[in-house]
Amino acid sequence: MYEHEIDAYFDDPARRAELVEHISRLVRIRSVREEARPGMPFGPGPAAALAEALKLAGELGMDVRNYENYVGTADLNDQETALHILCHLDVVGEGTGWTVTAPYEPRLVDGMLYGRGTDDDKGPAVAALLAMKALRDLAIPLSKNARLILGTDEESGSSDIAYYYAREPYAPYTFSPDAEFPLINTEKGSYKPTFTKTWPAETATPRVKELHGGFRINVLPPEAEALVAGLSAQAARPYCDRAAADTGAAYELREEGDDLRILCHGKGSHASLPEGGNNAVTALLHLLRALPLAKTGSTAAIWSLNTLFPHGDCTGAALGIAQADAVSGALSLAFSLLEVGETGLEGRFDSRVPLCADEANCKAVAEAAFARLGFTVQGEMEPPHHTPADSPLVQTLLACYEQYSGRKGACLAIGGGTYVHHIPGGVAFGCGMPGFDGNMHGADEHTCVDDLLTACKIFALAIARLCA
Ligand SMILES: [Zn+2]
Repeated sequence: MYEHEIDAYFDDPARRAELVEHISRLVRIRSVREEARPGMPFGPGPAAALAEALKLAGELGMDVRNYENYVGTADLNDQETALHILCHLDVVGEGTGWTVTAPYEPRLVDGMLYGRGTDDDKGPAVAALLAMKALRDLAIPLSKNARLILGTDEESGSSDIAYYYAREPYAPYTFSPDAEFPLINTEKGSYKPTFTKTWPAETATPRVKELHGGFRINVLPPEAEALVAGLSAQAARPYCDRAAADTGAAYELREEGDDLRILCHGKGSHASLPEGGNNAVTALLHLLRALPLAKTGSTAAIWSLNTLFPHGDCTGAALGIAQADAVSGALSLAFSLLEVGETGLEGRFDSRVPLCADEANCKAVAEAAFARLGFTVQGEMEPPHHTPADSPLVQTLLACYEQYSGRKGACLAIGGGTYVHHIPGGVAFGCGMPGFDGNMHGADEHTCVDDLLTACKIFALAIARLCA
């Protein structure tokens, strides 16, 4: 029912123009999180984008409410709520390198709409809004309400959603178009402990005096550097050549008096996809393990870390926590932060753990491995998120996706967390079509207008079915 009405409704060129115009209205507002101001928990930008989006939703006939500038809501009708659709209006900073247009001046080129937030997540928010409007315009009878929840802090920790659900109940069904099609029903858990080791100050050389690697827990480090006392570049060079052949990383040497600074250049990647990068920290440890260092505390610690995190081990095999299951895939591990000083070190790794991982087979095993080598380790596991593939919500959404995309529906598992990670029964659904890359968070972010119109149809049919 209503498949054809919805199809024809969004095939009207007027809808395309509306879609582009409404998204552009929101993209023009720079909604990057800034310092809080009275009544604006995330600063003026996100609050202004929320005000504009609620104004738009009101113009489109929705009942709107602003929850103290954390989130806003738009209701389709005054029935009991069956469905929450979660989108967000905050954006990451514009960065540099834009070529097609300025970040906050939306521009349509060859069917692609460019501008910060077009893909993540203002475009999807407007698509959801127009889907709701379609049900009203087409007078499709509903016995339940669909509520669009517009957050303003997705990019910096999702405290917006926490604020909302501390005050309002969960809906029976929740989906968030802040990812990609077909549908993400499984998000791995995580384990990101901090480990430390100390040793007495010492003077023997050659020894590592300091080491710095990584800058953010969820980024596989592209760079790392060490300062080695009592070693010449000439002596180190053959070891670097061998290590470079082993690891694919590049080692740059700079003599500083009697010290040698070693800069290791790898390749960064998201910590949930470590095999896509080349870890500069583990590549540097690989080299240090081979160097003729004196038998000191720092040398022993570096050898231990090289044993626990050998270069190229992205699954936690050496640590003893490698595991996988059919639904969520394999555990991934990125050794992402390490600071070594004269008398101790502190490090952290970011592992995304499958559904089968638990305290006994993951946390306890890692803690034992560290303890054996004299390290102290601290940190708890974060639970995964999973909504069964055979649930009515997942089955309904995938059927709607297949109806208009002409593609096969399927459930996806990812290592990262989406906007619904803490929402029982929630799934991420759209808006990017499989294979589309809108370069979100980067320069020249864009969305495909045709695909967004397809998403409008999918969301409209999903609302019709879930709120019937
Ligand atoms: Zn997003």
